[in-house]
Amino acid sequence: MAKNGDSDHEEKAHFVLVPVMAQGHTIPMLDMARLLAGRGAAVTFVTTPLNFARIKSLADSVANSGLPIHFLPLRFPCAECGLPDGCENIDVLPSSDLLASFWRACAMLREPLASHLRHNSPAPPTCIISDTGHPWTGDVAREFGIPRLTFLGFGAFASLVRYVLYRFKIFENVADENEPVSVPFLPHRFEMTKAKSPGNFGGPGMEKFREVALAEERRADGIVVNTFDDLEASYIDAYGQITEKKIWTLGPLSLCNRDVGETVARGSASNVDVSHCLRWLDSKKHGSVVYVSFGSLARTMPGQLIQVGLGLEASERPFVWVIKAGDRFAEVEEWLKAEGFEERVKDRGLIINGWAPQAAILSHPAVGGFMTHCGWNSTLEGVAAGLPMITWPHFGDQFLNETLIVESLKVGVPVGVQQMTQWGAEDAQAFIKKDDVETAVGKLMDEGEEGEERRTRARELGEKARRAMEEGGSSYENTKLLIREIQAKNVHADGKLTV
Ligand code: UDP
Repeated sequence: MAKNGDSDHEEKAHFVLVPVMAQGHTIPMLDMARLLAGRGAAVTFVTTPLNFARIKSLADSVANSGLPIHFLPLRFPCAECGLPDGCENIDVLPSSDLLASFWRACAMLREPLASHLRHNSPAPPTCIISDTGHPWTGDVAREFGIPRLTFLGFGAFASLVRYVLYRFKIFENVADENEPVSVPFLPHRFEMTKAKSPGNFGGPGMEKFREVALAEERRADGIVVNTFDDLEASYIDAYGQITEKKIWTLGPLSLCNRDVGETVARGSASNVDVSHCLRWLDSKKHGSVVYVSFGSLARTMPGQLIQVGLGLEASERPFVWVIKAGDRFAEVEEWLKAEGFEERVKDRGLIINGWAPQAAILSHPAVGGFMTHCGWNSTLEGVAAGLPMITWPHFGDQFLNETLIVESLKVGVPVGVQQMTQWGAEDAQAFIKKDDVETAVGKLMDEGEEGEERRTRARELGEKARRAMEEGGSSYENTKLLIREIQAKNVHADGKLTV
């Protein structure tokens, strides 16, 4: 089947995107869908009814714009897998104990997807880009004889470390969770503890799944990473070498949203009146506001949230603070109101309960700093907005992202987190105190030499990020090359890409 560049046989590239149903995985893949479709490829975007409802306004605007993206909501088999009704996204799982059932339900999408592609797809698929959490898509790609690229949702540094840790079982004989262990195959010396290492699809009971996922990862025809070459060059190279795969860096994917209308529709409908939010920001001085958000999955207990609020108050800086619904807002609201917090900060604090239009807020000129949980999307969105960050990692790849932000890129101030907050754990203890928050905000927003240098570095990275996505930039060119490779069917009979 290798028709290398035989234009007589060229058909439009048709990517089938299969994200993991969690905001941090779905949002960048939605951006990827728009990026690929905007550059001439057709896209089928696999989702489920509940997740599709969340992105309905985005789907509508895609339909109106004529972008060739077909949204394919497949029924999610909750009942068959022992999941409560409606548990179609990791952010609504009542407990992390249900992760194994969630992955099982995902794997059951295989036949419905294959059947759609066999019988109902307007055009034959030419490439699958699927999350590493969907190893079952390997079989679908083989059935159709097309390449499969994996997408993990991490940056290159975290992807590289995770790959090395699990492929070479670095922690296998390490008993002490807090013992720093040297991680080989990195461009520089790097140690990490098991306690802060990124997880691998949940805890005990997931061994078989992990094995299958890793095996499929190794069979993949390439890896798509949401990053850009100027940001993580040495890690991208090392990752390509150790995996022996082509690394397609296409990001920052969030920059494919060109105006406020596009950014606010990302992921979910906002729980705040977006124009009110932007007007509020308009009223603040350039670069003066701290934006605080811990993403979509990390759960922060009321005691810890109260320390965040008190620290923000003590910092005397204007702030936008997002408290997600999963953070037991009712209890925090009691504190916000009964103890007069909201009243005291009303002139300089905007509190958003629920989903915020994050990308739109970050790109507003009034925002001068970002307190983040270091999820990779948030990290890269902060980089793309040219902002210095306060790092508050919780779990997963977030400690690695903190290392990248603070030590490699030198655009961050750590709040001082020493241990992982297990996802879904009801850990009521506040590890970070009001004073830690106040100190970190003071340092980040400081107008002295250190703060200025950090801001300059962040601004320069933001400019490089934008250039990467513009014509002639690395991610722009990689996207072009990827579509061209797929379109020209530069694939062998076994589905392997020639590059
Ligand atoms: N996000 C948002 N509004 C919110 C919370 C999150 O738009 O109120 C978006 C954010 O911009 C990012 C994604 O959700 O694109 C979160 O992904 P990330 O990797 O940062 O963290 P996760 O939620 O996966 O921990």
